[in-house]
Amino acid sequence: MSLPTLELYASHPVYAVTMWALLVCGALAFLALTFITAPYGRHGRGGWGPTLPTRWTWVLMEAPAPIAFAITLATTPRGLEPVPLVLGGLYIAHYTWRSFVFPFLLKVDGKREPVLIAALSGLFNSANGFVNAYAIGWLAPHLDASWLHGPVAWLGIALFAIGYRINHQSDAILRNLRRPGETGYRIPEGGLYPWVSSPNYLGELLEWTGFALAVSTAAGWVFVYFTAANLVPRAIANHAWYRSTFEDYPPERRVLLPGLW
Ligand code: NDP
Repeated sequence: MSLPTLELYASHPVYAVTMWALLVCGALAFLALTFITAPYGRHGRGGWGPTLPTRWTWVLMEAPAPIAFAITLATTPRGLEPVPLVLGGLYIAHYTWRSFVFPFLLKVDGKREPVLIAALSGLFNSANGFVNAYAIGWLAPHLDASWLHGPVAWLGIALFAIGYRINHQSDAILRNLRRPGETGYRIPEGGLYPWVSSPNYLGELLEWTGFALAVSTAAGWVFVYFTAANLVPRAIANHAWYRSTFEDYPPERRVLLPGLW
């Protein structure tokens, strides 16, 4: 396996600067989110500026990811070769669903979210889509047919598939807790919910760890780092929220890692 070298980074300055920005912003996001829970969904509250309907906030947040990824991949020298295209397809499949299907399944009638959240997430998703596609198309000479004969790619694809399944199953369980028009909260059951409070985030983290393994690029691992910086503090906040909201919340349920934490 040949990973990108420093020499390659030096000759791709926009990519290098964006990678550094993601590394620094990931650390800042983790620090900020440890002390201030992002004000959307169950943690929503006033005082965060203008708002938009929740569904459209999701579209604005997520759509930059598949768009930036697809445009960048298509303009790189190797992006349209079979292996980069298939592995890049995992990213595009996840984000096409998240941007254009998921928002319209949510039961969030009348709810609104801050434009600030949409803007910050949209910015992250543009940068992340760009570096990941750029790395696959310019900086990953290992992604040829022989890559699929080794175990790393398949381990990654399997992990991505398991994460995708957990993420979609968990999100569907949450959606089905509400009848049409309802916007309240219940204790979720089924899937991995008896084990952890936020299995949708666990699935998301597994997906991107699988993706990072499958493509084996630095950008893939920076994506895992940023996702953890974002979702770990929120999983902690969700768990605390469930425990303080529902007296009968199952005490054995953990934050994010079944049986461990
Ligand atoms: P939540 O679990 O907070 O909410 C998902 C949906 O389910 C919302 O519509 C929410 O309603 C509803 N819901 C949540 N809990 C309950 C409950 N107990 N009873 C009834 N309805 C409930 O997830 P997020 O909104 O944070 O994330 C949604 C998806 O996006 C997840 O799959 C997550 O992994 C992914 N995501 C990925 C990120 C990344 O960095 N890659 C970042 C953030 C999210 P309401 O909005 O009214 O609270």
